[in-house]
Amino acid sequence: MSIEVNSISKSYGEQKALNEISFKIEKGEIVGFLGPNGAGKSTLMKILTTYLLADSGSALVNGHDVMTNAKAVQQSIGYLPEHNPLYLDLYVREYLAFNADVYKVPKSRIEEVIQLTGLTPESHKKISQLSKGYRQRVGLANALLHNPDVLILDEPTTGLDPNQLMEIRNVIKNIGKDKTIFLSTHIMQEVEAICDRVIIIDKGQIVADNKLDHLVAAD
Ligand code: ADP
Ligand code: ADP
Repeated sequence: MSIEVNSISKSYGEQKALNEISFKIEKGEIVGFLGPNGAGKSTLMKILTTYLLADSGSALVNGHDVMTNAKAVQQSIGYLPEHNPLYLDLYVREYLAFNADVYKVPKSRIEEVIQLTGLTPESHKKISQLSKGYRQRVGLANALLHNPDVLILDEPTTGLDPNQLMEIRNVIKNIGKDKTIFLSTHIMQEVEAICDRVIIIDKGQIVADNKLDHLVAAD
């Protein structure tokens, strides 16, 4: 199992953000986490990536407990936060090289993630010179650097124009069959375009969990 969430709850003061959430995601699944703004998507993703502690319940990523084994969890996960912090003054390769150092991955991996995310034509530029769509690709490339088994993408296409949106969706779809992808969005079409399963969250509770059959049939 790639992700296992058992009865997770989280409140911010009086505000209940997650109310006993449970689900399992198997290796290789691409799962959409669909819900309106404020439903609790970012909160759950921050718990899975160890940036936030749940009040109760437990979660495992690649078999590692997010509460007690943050380091192993972080090594298993590539995370694209909703507000992806990028160093605008750096060149694309400089930025990726900096993070490659942090993750202790070989420099040769930089060219691989540039190719994988379709960054090649813009890869000689400064991040400040890139369009929003290409900045998202830099975020994705960064999340892929240490070749994680699980990708957690928080609203990866929000704010992109239709063209960029389609391209990023294709990049995500083609990242690799062996990777587990858990992607949040408030747009059903996004789920239909990319995912083979959808988990719907509303007001901190799971309200549906369905396989998307048309994609299974198209395989
Ligand atoms: P989503 O990602 O689905 O938009 P969030 O997880 O960001 O939802 O938010 C879930 C709920 O928790 C919302 O009501 C939001 O306002 C609240 N919330 C999120 N972060 C905080 C915070 N740091 N402090 C207080 N309330 C928060
Ligand atoms: P994100 O969903 O990526 O956290 P937001 O723009 O929703 O981004 O929130 C920005 C910051 O404010 C985040 O740290 C989030 O946790 C926090 N936040 C979100 N909603 C609330 C809220 N109702 N009260 C206080 N802080 C909040």
